[in-house]
Amino acid sequence: MPLVNAKEMLTKAKAGHYAVGQFNINNLEWTKAILLTAQEMNSPVILGVSEGAGKYMCGYKTVVGMVEGMLEGLNITVPVALHLDHGSYEGAKACIEAGFSSIMFDGSHYPIDENIEKTKELVAICEEKGLSIEAEVGSIGGEEDGVVGAGECADPNECKMIADLGVTMLAAGIGNIHGKYPANWAGLSFDTLAAVQEKTGTMPLVLHGGTGIPADMIKKAISLGVSKINVNTECQLAFQEATRKYIEAGKDLEGKGFDPRKLLADGVEAIKACVKEKIELFGSADKA
Ligand SMILES: [Zn+2]
Repeated sequence: MPLVNAKEMLTKAKAGHYAVGQFNINNLEWTKAILLTAQEMNSPVILGVSEGAGKYMCGYKTVVGMVEGMLEGLNITVPVALHLDHGSYEGAKACIEAGFSSIMFDGSHYPIDENIEKTKELVAICEEKGLSIEAEVGSIGGEEDGVVGAGECADPNECKMIADLGVTMLAAGIGNIHGKYPANWAGLSFDTLAAVQEKTGTMPLVLHGGTGIPADMIKKAISLGVSKINVNTECQLAFQEATRKYIEAGKDLEGKGFDPRKLLADGVEAIKACVKEKIELFGSADKA
């Protein structure tokens, strides 16, 4: 199945009270692990690509070529969207050009008027080309230069203004942050989420920073209108731990254990297990 935009899968998720996972990719192994798991679970899936990861993988065209090749080579039949994560205005345009099926324009650091203006322009381009588009209101905190910022809470009225521009999905800050959550994290603001949901109606809402949010909070967020949840750090930690164990057990020194296909195999299995656990938690299994 060729790449699809995320509109249909998210509309169904919103109506069916479950969420579709966005799993960020970093290389071939990552992409393969996520696609195979989504297929095995019969779940729709969104592959997220940050601008940094896009650069690392030698540009957006390389990413599109790799993903499209895998959809064919691995006989993937579940719906797959290839989505730019936290895109700049320029990055969004480059991904549209390169053949992504979905983009996020993160204008949350602009004053609201400028965020609206730029989002509006990109909505028109995406509509014309058949892509889905995610916008963001209220920046999502996280670690930057060693400082962990608290997750901001979005203004529900601003959320409505952006939702009304015709975006496909909306990321609203509700106290969530990227990376590992600090021990003194205050938790998600369900009051903010409920207020945003009330103002935006059927708009699928996106929860960023899915790593380490307790399962009961994830379930409550889904019940309040979250239809897409982004997972990145958790797969990285799973890969790192499994790879560390492989090396520490000296397996790379046994036989052909140095072969990269063997060296990375345990890490790949760990990513698969992480994706499987999330798909089960989000409720998107058998919803392809
Ligand atoms: Zn994010």
